[in-house]
Amino acid sequence: MEIRKTSIYDNFTCTAGKCPENCCRGWRVHIDADTVQKYLKMKGPDGFIIRACMHTDDTMPYFSGKSIVCPLMTMKGLCSIQKKHGEDLMPEICRRFPRDIRNYGPFAEMHLDPACTRVSEMLISSQNDITLVSSNGVLDLPLYGNNDDRDFLMDLDRSRSSLLSLFEYDNSKTVYSLDGIFTEAMNIAFDDHERVLGIKESHRERESGIKNFPLPAGLLNKMTADSFYKDKILLYSPFFYRLFRAYFRYFGNLNPASADRRYRNALDRMLAEYPETTEHIFRYIRYSLEREYLTTYEDYSFIKRILDNIICANMVLMMMTVCHMKYRRLTVTDEARIISMTERRARHNDSILKTLSDMYRNGTPGFFSTDMRRP
Ligand code: SF4
Repeated sequence: MEIRKTSIYDNFTCTAGKCPENCCRGWRVHIDADTVQKYLKMKGPDGFIIRACMHTDDTMPYFSGKSIVCPLMTMKGLCSIQKKHGEDLMPEICRRFPRDIRNYGPFAEMHLDPACTRVSEMLISSQNDITLVSSNGVLDLPLYGNNDDRDFLMDLDRSRSSLLSLFEYDNSKTVYSLDGIFTEAMNIAFDDHERVLGIKESHRERESGIKNFPLPAGLLNKMTADSFYKDKILLYSPFFYRLFRAYFRYFGNLNPASADRRYRNALDRMLAEYPETTEHIFRYIRYSLEREYLTTYEDYSFIKRILDNIICANMVLMMMTVCHMKYRRLTVTDEARIISMTERRARHNDSILKTLSDMYRNGTPGFFSTDMRRP
């Protein structure tokens, strides 16, 4: 079987207690069925404590306190289950994260999730281009999803190559080039959407009226106030919380036109002092599309894949600008923390996606669906 592995994959090592944005904070830790069974059979006080930390609602059981910090994390930021009982007793997601492996059938892909701070740091500080490296091997992993339409998979693979070439960085490109580049990317996704779903007319020309990059400050503000920011961020990322407070102080009381002007000026100042940020943003978007676009094989949400990247790239650039305004600095660690926290807060955030998609929406069935199947 062909195995494609991202070139930074084997270099990853978790920084654990030294991680500035530990992944045991900030989201629910879902517990897979096999691990739940192990916990139910555990005897003694450790079994009692673990079971007491498990919550259930209508989804999978999960570990999380009210503050969205895993209650089984030690004061030193380490996993108490791993420390006392070894990795085998951790939930599957904790054993695997940030490794992200998908078996598509004819080939498998191995990526790293940039929601991990160390991965984000590797992504932006790599001296070499980050690409998928192909080899032959054996992988004992269930198929990703239920689709068996191999022609469609190969079509998607070709579309992804076209998308990735758009986001290759060279010195002629600026962050402002991303507006036109995202429009081209949307066109590729629209082509796939229309061809694969058999939709003849999706009125794409009506959808291209808004600026993709940078998004208007009024829209960024709505996304931030509605869902990107939450008060409880203070409990798991004081760094990110302070950036949000600074953001509201700088932009919260301005009208949209003044906010746009202020944002553009601050962005230009940041880019003048840290010109490498442009390449980092291109690299981040390209990497995210490489990792995510083929998941359309399962849900047919071509356009959603591009919108997610428009949202995350805009949010990352905005928070980098705010960081520079507040601290007069933008280190690699700052960038990595901003990328990883944005991935956790903004990617696959339905509320933020709805805000943006409402700007584009034209009512085509399945346009932004996450569960659309080929008719
Ligand atoms: S975010 Fe990454 S580096 Fe940090 S604790 Fe989690 S896996 Fe380790």
